[in-house]
Amino acid sequence: MGLVVLKFGGTSVSTVDKIGKTADQAIYEKKQGNRVIIVVSAMGKSTDKLVAMAEEISETPDKREMDMLLSTGEQITIALLAMTLKEKGHDAISLTGWQAGIETEAVHSNARIAEIDSSRIESALDLGQIVVVAGFQGFTSDGEITTLGRGGSDTTAVAIASALNAEKCAICTDVVGVFTTDPRYVKNAQKLEQITYDEMLELANLGAGVLHPRSVEYAKNFRIPLEVRASHEKEPGTMIKEDLTMENTKVVRGIAFEDQITRVTIHWKQKEAMRVSKVFTKLAENNIDVDIIIQGITGLGHGNLSFTIKTSALLATLAVLEESKELLQIEKLESEQELAKVSIVGSGMVSNPGVAAQMFEALTENNIPIKMISTSEIKVSTVVSARNMVEAAQALHDQFELDK
Ligand code: ASP
Ligand code: MG
Repeated sequence: MGLVVLKFGGTSVSTVDKIGKTADQAIYEKKQGNRVIIVVSAMGKSTDKLVAMAEEISETPDKREMDMLLSTGEQITIALLAMTLKEKGHDAISLTGWQAGIETEAVHSNARIAEIDSSRIESALDLGQIVVVAGFQGFTSDGEITTLGRGGSDTTAVAIASALNAEKCAICTDVVGVFTTDPRYVKNAQKLEQITYDEMLELANLGAGVLHPRSVEYAKNFRIPLEVRASHEKEPGTMIKEDLTMENTKVVRGIAFEDQITRVTIHWKQKEAMRVSKVFTKLAENNIDVDIIIQGITGLGHGNLSFTIKTSALLATLAVLEESKELLQIEKLESEQELAKVSIVGSGMVSNPGVAAQMFEALTENNIPIKMISTSEIKVSTVVSARNMVEAAQALHDQFELDK
């Protein structure tokens, strides 16, 4: 008998009717002779609605209470789903994060899972129950409720799958799989049959919203084969795994893009006094995530440092830097908003020089100015103006023939 973990996202449980369909799928797996765990998100856009209400109260809502609030979304879904399963004649039990034994570090709103005590889930499975677990939430050793960051239900599912050594873990969502790029913007995007953990991790981190990046990290570390597929259809989705079975002929496998990026530039008082490490220490202490960093020094004695952040972090970033302007020896601060990051990803890049050049050429041919560049073994990212973002993605999709 196999153990199957299925995760259903918000759109797949947005109505009682859809919860019924999700229940049918759980029952189908059960009838195949499997032990079944279902992880669910909050219904539809309900997390967004909760966030909006909190923001009516405060620009910076208290983090503990925010987790208390947001964790209610998933709790509604688990109760309704377990109820539905029972109504359909199948024994089931709903479990919140703490009931399911999902212990996290003591960080509100973006906690990492520290440990899973799966004993309660296991006893329920032993009783033949379908176990319905609230995604996105956990508890700390001090008994506080935490959440795992937006989209974190994926991570709950993969973490449970690894803790219990599941045969199968599927993320059931509103798209049929992982695409070469976002099909809502690039019409000839193609569904991928398979993709490696590393490629998926890059794509997820670069803004491809289909999976929570940490879920891919988990899957990779514990070698859990992961499937991304459409919720209520039979069609196979995309398999995410270590090695691909087919010979990979494409150097670039996918294109990710993301807007709402801002570049911050620090002009140093003098190049002898560049407090680079202090700047990033300060930002880290304030939980500000920095992405691409470029340090430039000219012969004229002036130096500057540019880095990108999410635009939502701009106010906090400027506040932190302004406050320590003297200490950090900053002459002037500048920022440029309405930027976007467009990236190409593919394992084949490691052994294929010239891919970056091809990328820059395609952008240049389309008159898209490149503002910043960063590379790793299997990706090249460029920062462009937000208004060029989709056009850049399309140009690169064509350049690397991802529609074929
Ligand atoms: N409900 C949470 C969110 O909207 C978690 C999830 O859906 O994965 O971010
Ligand atoms: Mg999601």
